[in-house]
Amino acid sequence: HSQMKYEPFRKDFYVEPADLTQLTEEEVDNMRMELDGIKVRGLNCPKPVAKWSQCGLPVSILNVIKSMNYEKPTSIQAQSLPAIMSGRDIIGVAKTGSGKTIAFLLPMFRHLKDQKPLQPTDGPIALIMTPTRELATQTFQECKPFLKILGLRAVCAYGGAPIKDQIADFKRGAEIVVCTPGRMIDILAANSGRVTNLRRVTYIVLDEADRMFDLGFEPQVMRIVNNVRPDRQTVLFSATFPKAMEALARKILRKPVEIVVGARSVVAPEIKQIVEVQAEENKFTRLLELLGLLYAEDEDVRALIFVDRQESADNLLRDLMRRGYPCMSIHGAKDQADRDSVIEDFKAGVVPILIATSVAARGLDVKQLKLVVNFDCPNHMEDYVHRVGRTGRAGNTGTAVTFLTPDQERYAVDIAKALKMSLTAVPPEINAMAERFLEKVKSGQEKASGSGFGGKGLDRLDKEREAVL
Ligand code: ADP
Ligand code: MG
Repeated sequence: HSQMKYEPFRKDFYVEPADLTQLTEEEVDNMRMELDGIKVRGLNCPKPVAKWSQCGLPVSILNVIKSMNYEKPTSIQAQSLPAIMSGRDIIGVAKTGSGKTIAFLLPMFRHLKDQKPLQPTDGPIALIMTPTRELATQTFQECKPFLKILGLRAVCAYGGAPIKDQIADFKRGAEIVVCTPGRMIDILAANSGRVTNLRRVTYIVLDEADRMFDLGFEPQVMRIVNNVRPDRQTVLFSATFPKAMEALARKILRKPVEIVVGARSVVAPEIKQIVEVQAEENKFTRLLELLGLLYAEDEDVRALIFVDRQESADNLLRDLMRRGYPCMSIHGAKDQADRDSVIEDFKAGVVPILIATSVAARGLDVKQLKLVVNFDCPNHMEDYVHRVGRTGRAGNTGTAVTFLTPDQERYAVDIAKALKMSLTAVPPEINAMAERFLEKVKSGQEKASGSGFGGKGLDRLDKEREAVL
């Protein structure tokens, strides 16, 4: 970097509105409490905003928000918008479905509008990194309503689709790149590095950073980030913030403001959590019952069913089709075009039931998704929280039903804790299973951790809570 000549750029656009300046510290504390218990750490964090008009955004952007009928900023948005608009690096932690995307998109657009126009050989100015193809596509879609009005262009780059089409997109020029880290590195290296470059990047987003970390993308992320000018603005969003991620954050962020929303309730209260003990051979019948109940109430709803392996997905798909339920499946073995069209059909309601493995459905945001069924129990805490968080989005209600087989005592311990942490009563039979497991641990018949669910996941959440308290 010392050998590069970077042009100065502006990243601080925020002027505190007068009505916020008047607020006392105590009033601000109350405001944060009412906004789902926002906690902030770090020096000089701006006060949270209550209205879109306080964010310092241009009318053109405000108009698009209005057209989307987003009445006011969500809690994470209320605090992170003024912080990012001030040019600060931030760590934003909030549960799934809380509106994190908009929280980093709006300041990004403001940032972009202030930068010098792109020259023909310039690479992007904003770089959004996400863990999965699905999430990249979704974020790219969320940009679209703003692009035309603001005169901006975006490209989307992820593995599993032909790289040459994506290279062509890059060559046409774009201010924004939404990508998965691996594919971005491929594109940077393509044609001896002539496709694009990072010289103009001044705004970086790491979305679902916990997931990127879990999937082992840290080296790729570091490689990209280290090649971007050090005075850039970097924002990191995540549903959880495990201690192990702090080191990464420290390496990447400068004097960040840390914003944590509602760290105590892991699963949103809008989601009704049901956990049932079901023998393996009874699961299917019970699933049919649940689907029957769901569609008796309302026809235009979606259901998402999680299984643990591709094979199980295909088998369940076959069984449900035989019973006349229109459904599709999505998992890692399907090619990208397939997965894209499956998600599109699911969103549109062409096919209302989707069977998925965890990775494939990460970050999926589908309105009308009323029911999540963990047909196979997730094997760690964070996976449970994320799967269940596919429903109950943006204040809507939803139900999540989890099947445990009688031998899955190990998982019962942590599911019970997950329920307690989100203030949901634990069914007696789940408590009993959990106790049996803990007895076995005491007597040395079982090990407490090992699957990841027993130890690490919870440990992390505990630490995260400690950090906030
Ligand atoms: P997260 O990244 O936190 O999991 P998303 O950014 O995917 O959540 O947002 C979840 C849903 O909330 C999306 O459907 C989005 O359109 C909607 N949404 C975002 N901001 C608002 C808002 N201020 N008011 C109402 N809905 C919103
Ligand atoms: Mg998100």
